[in-house]
Amino acid sequence: MPFNLAAELQQKKADGLYRQRRTLESAQGTRVRVDGRELFNFCSNDYLGLASHPDVVAAFQQAAAKYGVGSGASHLVCGHSAEHHALEAELAEFTGRERVLLFSTGYMANTGIVQALLSRGDAVFEDRLNHASLIDGGLASGAHFQRYHHGDVAHLRTLLEKSTAAKKLIVTDGVFSMDGDVAPLPELAQLAQQHDAWLMVDDAHGFGVLGAQGGGVAEHFSLPAAQLPVLVGTLGKGFGTFGAFVAGDAALIEYLINSARSYIFTTALPPAVAAASRASLKLLRDEPQRREKLASLVAHFRHEALSLGLALLPSDTPIQPVLLGSNQKALAWSAALEAKGFLVGAIRPPTVPAGSARLRVTFSAAHERADVDGLLQALADCRGLLA
Ligand SMILES: *Cc1c(COP(=O)(O)O)cnc(C)c1O
Repeated sequence: MPFNLAAELQQKKADGLYRQRRTLESAQGTRVRVDGRELFNFCSNDYLGLASHPDVVAAFQQAAAKYGVGSGASHLVCGHSAEHHALEAELAEFTGRERVLLFSTGYMANTGIVQALLSRGDAVFEDRLNHASLIDGGLASGAHFQRYHHGDVAHLRTLLEKSTAAKKLIVTDGVFSMDGDVAPLPELAQLAQQHDAWLMVDDAHGFGVLGAQGGGVAEHFSLPAAQLPVLVGTLGKGFGTFGAFVAGDAALIEYLINSARSYIFTTALPPAVAAASRASLKLLRDEPQRREKLASLVAHFRHEALSLGLALLPSDTPIQPVLLGSNQKALAWSAALEAKGFLVGAIRPPTVPAGSARLRVTFSAAHERADVDGLLQALADCRGLLA
């Protein structure tokens, strides 16, 4: 039987790799309703608590009343609205780049950009822990695909020295999505310059969280456009809405409008989503108190979790993985936490390398210290019961 899907699913179950959805019956927030039970949510990427913020909701409602729901067409046909255009201009100013282009999702931005920039005869160099969308874009581009060890600038240098490709693109997450650490961007930018390569950074988890104004890793390291020519952000995480963008110079943006297939051949985001993102950009940029509170919750969690003996990774961001190793162990801990009222995702291969299954604990500025203390108590109980 060539398509024995039932058997393949059975095998996934046996390997602890089966994935199942949960159905939320409430808005996204630090408490969510699942199967009639209220749970403390420690697995969302809504780091600033903007997904349900009243200003963001109101902007969405007002724009829906004016523009309707559907955008009706792709951006190049007749789907590009004044709300999209204004959001692009505001994001360009925010990132200090000449222009910005919106994409419907981060997955589509990454695959579309890498495939538009590279083809056969070129080379792409990716951190081995990059997000799947960056890996997929690199593989599909036809360029010579090379992975370097995580954050390993020396390894990347040896690969660049050996390359004779016409165009070379270095691609990395800004903040690594499953580990929470930050890429060594100043060193990567310097290497790119030495080897006549371009640097592309996907800062899905840095925007809103890092930098005094929430400008992410580019602001954190003060990297200008000349050193970081392709800067991607997503709107579904710190911004609390939906969609993605790339910031760069005018030539890059015009080129992508004319070449990126995932931009050209898809319906534009609803204009109301762009309007909501404009409202969240304002909150994210102008109200640093959320970032400050988030940083203090993360520091408190790390201090206490390390003294409990939990295996944390070297991360200062709201992504705080607890390394457990086996898939079954990660599932058992996640289930035990859920029974105690805490929703924390068990992350397993292929999202992370085999043998490094983990709980991915994430924090929001909307959490309170008492919520974090509750989670710490539950983790301490798990440690006692499940070892
Ligand atoms: C979530 C994520 C994406 C995908 O963005 P979507 O808008 O959800 O498609 C891309 N890159 C990284 C690093 C991410 O974490």
